[in-house]
Amino acid sequence: INPFLNLEYEPAMENLGDDYYDVVTPAEFPQHILRFRNDDLLSIIGLSEDEVEDSHWVDAFGKFQGIRPFLALKYHGYQFGVYNPQLGDGRGFLYGQVRGRDGVLYDFGTKGSGRTPYSRQADGRLTLKGGVREIIAGEALFRMGVNTSRCLSLIETGEALWRGDEPSPTRSSVMVRFSKSHIRFGSFERLYYFQRPDLVKNLLDHVIYYYYPHLTMQDKPYTLFYSELIQRVALLVAQWMSAGFCHGVLNTDNMSITGESFDYGPYAFINTYDPTFTAAYFDYGGRYCYGNQPLICRWNLELLQKPLGLLISLEDLQQELAKFERVYQGYYQELMLKKLGFSQLRNNLGEKLVQETIDLLKESQYSYHQFFADLAEQFNYGWHNSYELILENSEIKSSNLDSWKRLYHLCLETFVREELDQIQCTLHQYNPQIVPIRAIIEAIWHPITTEDNWLPFYDLLAQIKQ
Ligand code: AMP
Ligand code: MG
Ligand code: MG
Repeated sequence: INPFLNLEYEPAMENLGDDYYDVVTPAEFPQHILRFRNDDLLSIIGLSEDEVEDSHWVDAFGKFQGIRPFLALKYHGYQFGVYNPQLGDGRGFLYGQVRGRDGVLYDFGTKGSGRTPYSRQADGRLTLKGGVREIIAGEALFRMGVNTSRCLSLIETGEALWRGDEPSPTRSSVMVRFSKSHIRFGSFERLYYFQRPDLVKNLLDHVIYYYYPHLTMQDKPYTLFYSELIQRVALLVAQWMSAGFCHGVLNTDNMSITGESFDYGPYAFINTYDPTFTAAYFDYGGRYCYGNQPLICRWNLELLQKPLGLLISLEDLQQELAKFERVYQGYYQELMLKKLGFSQLRNNLGEKLVQETIDLLKESQYSYHQFFADLAEQFNYGWHNSYELILENSEIKSSNLDSWKRLYHLCLETFVREELDQIQCTLHQYNPQIVPIRAIIEAIWHPITTEDNWLPFYDLLAQIKQ
């Protein structure tokens, strides 16, 4: 018996009714080759690695046997600033919601599972490379402490896909995502578009009940919801920015109502600190470039005021949104400091260190991730004695390196020897030795396409976890 079928599923979305989704049917695929099973997620849903066989994964997440119904969610969204009422799950559906051991309600959501009423002219499929890239994004971001969805499974499906942006034909896959909701800003925007305050209210009550349950007993739950969403989104952007991550397509249909990061298309980790770095080749104006992400998320939160304004006064909404910058800056500062190993520094030493670190990285154009990886790996108790030893062998080229080292040394001096263990621990926690910038992804993709060799991919995933 398939352990995935024995889970207790909660029909949370199904119970909302078909104003919010269409029931659809998955595509049938010519092949099912299990390429990735995320065993790390099993314990969250109370399963263990040994009890789940590969065939169980294929049956549940490739052949879609047993777990029902399949709900293509309805949503609209602002894409590159322009409202698009022709969206919705065009190549995916939500089909299992399960309560984790951590009390969180998780979604099984597909990508590449076939056409739906929202596919428009497209094929409803996911390229194998797209699936591989999404796995890597989720695992790397998770490793770096980002609030992210993760892939549960990836199954190669044996079809030939034609895509303009890569060598065609290219291989196909179907992915199942494990996420904390697929309700998007765009789910609300659609209901505003149809002028349905009743449906906005239903959906908001649902969101609060399942994802903000501590607000249900409060006085003004709707305003408090917006207030907390702003905080969650500010935290998420701060996590992306400190992790050196550029999502690439921050349309409002890719913004989760829980403040979780999800839907990884043309994302990229930055190579060097460059606010203008743009991930999507079709983002001609650089609208969603690395450095614009805080501004864009604030703008997306502002757009959400239209539907929420059907239930909450605009004054209240504006007042909450006004806090965004300050909250974001606070989180960013805190996370950057953590990347440098510190939880707290006296006076404004922390602010100064973060600013000078960014200046150094910007000026030197040294690898953003290598800088922090070096700091973590070469952490040396001897640094306490002499600033010159800090990053002694690094290849950073900047006339400011010495003054940066002196500042870092000054920060270290505020700690006693026994506290250095904690700093080393924090450095390791926030700075993996490997971050999958594009070149690294291309390097593992090459053997997959040329010789169907998946070992470098699995090896990369193992390295990311360290
Ligand atoms: P995205 O930019 O990936 O967030 O997708 C935007 C919209 O296009 C969503 O409504 C998707 O469901 C839809 N979409 C993207 N790719 C496909 C595809 N290959 N087939 C059908 N719909 C798609
Ligand atoms: Mg999307
Ligand atoms: Mg997408």
